[in-house]
Amino acid sequence: MATIGFIGLGNMGGPMAANLVKAGHAVRGFDLSEAARAGAAALGVPVAATLAVAVAGADAVVTMLPAGRHVVGVWTELAGLVAPGTLLIDSSTVDVDSARAAHALAAGRGCPAVDAPVSGGTAGAAAGTLTFMVGGAQDAFAKAESILSAMGRRVVRCGDGGAGQAAKICNNMLLGISMIGACEAFALGEKLGLTHEALYAVLSTSSGQCWSVTSYCPVPGPVPASPANTGYRPGFAAALMSKDLSLARQAAEGAGARTPLGAAAADIYADFAGTDGDRDFSAVIERLR
Ligand code: NAD
Repeated sequence: MATIGFIGLGNMGGPMAANLVKAGHAVRGFDLSEAARAGAAALGVPVAATLAVAVAGADAVVTMLPAGRHVVGVWTELAGLVAPGTLLIDSSTVDVDSARAAHALAAGRGCPAVDAPVSGGTAGAAAGTLTFMVGGAQDAFAKAESILSAMGRRVVRCGDGGAGQAAKICNNMLLGISMIGACEAFALGEKLGLTHEALYAVLSTSSGQCWSVTSYCPVPGPVPASPANTGYRPGFAAALMSKDLSLARQAAEGAGARTPLGAAAADIYADFAGTDGDRDFSAVIERLR
């Protein structure tokens, strides 16, 4: 079992750190927010008063932070705090350039590192069923795998440093597009006089079938666990989807890839998140209606 510093104890990081504790690791968590520290402590995570205390003597450090600038800032501090050889794992969703900058900081300190963003949301974080998409050298991946397995069900190596973030951005661009498609289909069905149940019965068993319909249906009724049944309480907030779509747009522009539907989805979610950023991303059906 490893000694693990866990930095960023928010909606995702708190329950993820708790699963490392349950797996028998010696965890010390840290967050700038008093509320996040208290929330993690209530889940059984030992909490440190400073970043330096949280990572002192750690075999590994996991970061779960809002965006690239936070990750690069914390990893810059870590480079002056951890011993060479300490495994560094970032599970935040960030732009590929920030992920690569973090890898360079780790390499400068002689630390193996992986970017390991997740899919599965807060429910998956709590249940320990996340999917990790991992970028990093093979030896760093081998070290990270057992730690990540304590927080998730699938751990997929996608390539070298930054490849995990690249896969995450592609996945969430497709998710944003497919959710808008599912919303448009249900909104059109309503206008044509179809019940949600009838349209769901067809879509879920026909060629329009997708996760946004069968696991996360944007109208109340057909999928009892979907946020549509609880007034669109997140779940996955529209602001985070808007962030991920703007990362996808930025990556596509940098790589010279044509992503017209990704760009349209980014515009729709930027507009929606401007007023409804705290609501679940499937609530975009209200804007599309
Ligand atoms: P969150 O805002 O709830 O948690 C982030 C935490 O980081 C906050 O508690 C904040 O205080 C802390 N923090 C910021 N700067 C810090 C610093 N310098 N030192 C210590 N703590 C600091 O966000 P979240 O929902 O937990 O998401 C975290 C990451 O996971 C994001 O990158 C997000 O895009 C990604 N993600 C979220 C979901 C989801 O469903 N919420 C799903 C997949 C991926």
